[in-house]
Amino acid sequence: MTLTITAQTISITSIEQLNELSGENVKLCMQCATCTGMCPMTAEMDLSPRTVMHLVQFGMLDRLGDSNTCWKCASCHACTVKCPRGIDIAKVMEALRQHVLRTNRNYIEPSALPAERIAELPQIALVAAFRKLTS
Ligand code: SF4
Ligand code: SF4
Repeated sequence: MTLTITAQTISITSIEQLNELSGENVKLCMQCATCTGMCPMTAEMDLSPRTVMHLVQFGMLDRLGDSNTCWKCASCHACTVKCPRGIDIAKVMEALRQHVLRTNRNYIEPSALPAERIAELPQIALVAAFRKLTS
């Protein structure tokens, strides 16, 4: 995924919105990449947690909505406990998901899942997925 940062794409409003949604101050990030090093899901992500933090510092929430990173985040908090700036990155990932879900967009469509797949998957996994990935 190619993301270009220009003066036009920087949104102070979006930075403030994300800080309010997450309860964190993303401006504190110093781009050390410890979060990426700790994350067990980076192989599945199209943008690393460090890159996501870099882009949220420019308020590029809409562009990040096209990334799979916040959806692949397992909310394990490994990044959070090691961040030297004390940022709860898992909360930032949750805020990014909320930003998308509040526009009534789903990451998965329950109605599009094949009936046989629904029958074979653990029900608790489906419930957890629907709570995390649907608006
Ligand atoms: S560990 Fe913290 S300070 Fe370092 S890049 Fe990640 S969010 Fe930023
Ligand atoms: S909370 Fe998410 S971003 Fe942080 S280490 Fe776990 S999977 Fe990676």
